Amino acid sequence: MTLYYRITVGLYLPSKYHYMQLPREVIVGKGTLNRVPEVVKRLGLKGPVLIIAGQKSCEIAGNTVRDLIAQMGITVDTLLVQAATIRDVLSVEDRIADFKPQVLFGVGGGTKIDVAKLSSAHQGLPFISVPTTLSHDGIASPLASVKGFDKPYSAISQAPLAIIADTQIIMQEPWRFVISGCGDVLAKFTAVKDWRLAHTEHNEYYGEYAASLALMSATLVEENADRIQQGNEEGTQLLLEALISCGVAMSIAGSSRPCSGSEHLFSHALDLIKTNGAMHGEQCGVGSVMMAYLYGSNWKRLRDTLRRLGAPTTAVELGVSDEEVIRALELAASIRPERYTILQKLNLDYDACRKVAKLTEIIN
Ligand SMILES: [Zn+2]
Repeated sequence: MTLYYRITVGLYLPSKYHYMQLPREVIVGKGTLNRVPEVVKRLGLKGPVLIIAGQKSCEIAGNTVRDLIAQMGITVDTLLVQAATIRDVLSVEDRIADFKPQVLFGVGGGTKIDVAKLSSAHQGLPFISVPTTLSHDGIASPLASVKGFDKPYSAISQAPLAIIADTQIIMQEPWRFVISGCGDVLAKFTAVKDWRLAHTEHNEYYGEYAASLALMSATLVEENADRIQQGNEEGTQLLLEALISCGVAMSIAGSSRPCSGSEHLFSHALDLIKTNGAMHGEQCGVGSVMMAYLYGSNWKRLRDTLRRLGAPTTAVELGVSDEEVIRALELAASIRPERYTILQKLNLDYDACRKVAKLTEIIN
């Protein structure tokens, strides 16, 4: 089953073309959930709608989406999922086979959206993203992460047909999610450096436009860190748009390259060493500080921006031990050997990893 998935999910096109799949409608702001019927109408969707949500996201947004669609006279059903394992994706596909929807709505955080994204792509259906949290850039990206493999596995599946993001709903979620989202955006500073490095040293495809878009998002979050504070709707919307732009950057690049480099490898390694550790974006932010140091760029400015946002910048704040940080940094280079980054170039041993973590004040 695993192999079958690896082969059949994804956009596979002849390499002489540069293919971009972008969202057709993006609606962000206060109360945008009420715009669901007009989006459905504009997109010409008439058939059954299947909503994928979690228990909580269903209560805060999924039920509203369901009622609004039902009021249009469209058949609608909700399927609750808990995680983004291959088992969850397959159970959604079974439901798709029975219910035969025209479109899927993914309502929730990254997990629910990823399940909707992957199962709909596999069944040849479009999906609409309704994020209820801002913890990472998966809400708008064409990539989906699936758990249940020995290593984290993410695949290009499809971009959302539409994104409907209601800041009023997002602001009800714990603020820590927003902080994690900021870390994921700031991580683009080093992700783009890694992409350029792979281009220079390994002749990998590099897209200036996608790279600039990812960097612009990171710069905007850095410049507006003081506005991204709890209760500040303007700041929340700014982060939301930055995360959507990162998703679009990946759609333009046709890969996660502009948004995921060595700092993401560190976060994935930490996930393997310490399950139930900190959030993805929190770990990527800390990883980015160490990678900025390795690149000889201004890691202190990045660290200080994370601090201003209230994001973790030390092992203690991440809830992991010094030893776990060092081991994750050492392991990171082998997580995705095909993804050339500063970590593959430098090939740091245990002592060098400890030195980097110490010099950047992440460990004692
Ligand atoms: Zn990320």
